[in-house]
Amino acid sequence: MTRVRFAPSPTGYFHVGSARTALFNWLFARHTGGVFLLRIEDTDVERNREEHVDGIISAMAWLGMAPDEAIERQSARTERYRVAIDALWEAGFLYACDCTRDEVEARTADRATPGYDGYCRARGLAREGRALRYRTPDDGVTVVEDLIRGRIEFPNRAMEDFVAVRSDGKPLFVLANVIDDRDMQITHVVRGEDLLPTTPKGILLWRALDEAAEGEAGWGEVTPLPAWAHLPMLVNEQGKKLSKRRDPVAVELYREQGYLPEAFRNYLALLGWSPGGDREKVGLDVLVAEFRLEDVHHAPARFDVQKLAHLNGEYLRELPVDEFVARSRPWTVPEEEAAAGRWVPGAAAGAPFRPPWPPERFDEAVFVRMAPLVQERVTRFEEVPGMVDFLFLADPELDERSWQKAIAADADGARALLEGAIAAYQGCEWAPDDLKAVTLAVGESAGRKLAKAQAPIRVAVTGRTVGPPLFESLAVLGRAEVVRRLAAAVERLSAGTGS
Ligand code: GLU
Repeated sequence: MTRVRFAPSPTGYFHVGSARTALFNWLFARHTGGVFLLRIEDTDVERNREEHVDGIISAMAWLGMAPDEAIERQSARTERYRVAIDALWEAGFLYACDCTRDEVEARTADRATPGYDGYCRARGLAREGRALRYRTPDDGVTVVEDLIRGRIEFPNRAMEDFVAVRSDGKPLFVLANVIDDRDMQITHVVRGEDLLPTTPKGILLWRALDEAAEGEAGWGEVTPLPAWAHLPMLVNEQGKKLSKRRDPVAVELYREQGYLPEAFRNYLALLGWSPGGDREKVGLDVLVAEFRLEDVHHAPARFDVQKLAHLNGEYLRELPVDEFVARSRPWTVPEEEAAAGRWVPGAAAGAPFRPPWPPERFDEAVFVRMAPLVQERVTRFEEVPGMVDFLFLADPELDERSWQKAIAADADGARALLEGAIAAYQGCEWAPDDLKAVTLAVGESAGRKLAKAQAPIRVAVTGRTVGPPLFESLAVLGRAEVVRRLAAAVERLSAGTGS
């Protein structure tokens, strides 16, 4: 039975690299019929934030990667670490050190190899109140057999006697991490390549813990080493390592922009792995069936937002219309969603998203009529309000550039056309095809082709030059309101405002 864990430190927003690590662990567990654990590595009390723990859990739930067992937290395991540290101390793997960083630097400044010089190794200091260093072997190599990278050798000589326990008695990351992996019977450690340098230290500690388990101090069981798989790092479009400061990396941000979790998950799966052929859109069942750690690439994986958006658009267009409408709700009726206790964009940061229309003016039945056309034209849900706001605003704001371009640039021509449309629309059948035929005729008598005839009407009715197909939009908005808005535009032209 395979057992894997995703072990984030809650010191910042949950970012795409972490989500990719979580996903690869999760896919591996599903593919092998194993167990996927979530372990919160919250021993760094100064940098941990509880809100980041919530962020991790909610992002994982959003991506459909809930852990199979109760969430583990390192902060609840202090006593267990103490027992293990005592055993390591008794077995002689650790020694106390009272050197300050300055002292070490002063002694080692002119050395070729950086790091601690072993000054306290033989001093026999008592452990209370002191940092404890691990006594690294003087010779030999520590080998990491990595499922992705193959065999990697680390000469022990090049490894300093690293601090494993702080002066307050708490274990450092690498020690707590291996004690946990042993206790949780982890069979495969799947994590970012950035952690590879700590892996030989972890292996040394693992063996020391085995020896301490067998010795008199006996604290636990001899436990087989896990297999390792270090995932390639993520780079941005310029090929630079994805950076929290430079790049949009928070998963919540993508959720707020209206990416579908199934599309986002699909895209994450392609970051360092591929299902073969040139397939990109692959459903969850295929991911689970085909994912193998051995097939993960070595080369850095490019995080390409355009590709993600494209994939998301494909997923969006495939949704049944009623599902598209339902899943648009956090962007169309966020007030209702929030009142029902559901997720709303921006709420986590204290600035919940609000669409441009007053809530009482939104009519889902009207939105349903437009939805199939909107669905064809957006790549993310956040674009939905801007596509349909003209239906739910009493007077959509006129975009000044659109007005200038489509109306004011040829005020007389636009006036003739708008007046012609008002007259024609009052008597015609109110359906997209009829509206199109009538508009074509009005355009012809004003000497304009259909596209040129549509533009002023679109701006007068929706406020902008771009949007969903015009005649469907007019049909949904209704005759009285269309005519009223066309008349208002004519009046604005006559008053000379904005021209
Ligand atoms: N807590 C570590 C981190 O967030 C990961 C530890 C691991 O996966 O082994 O970088």
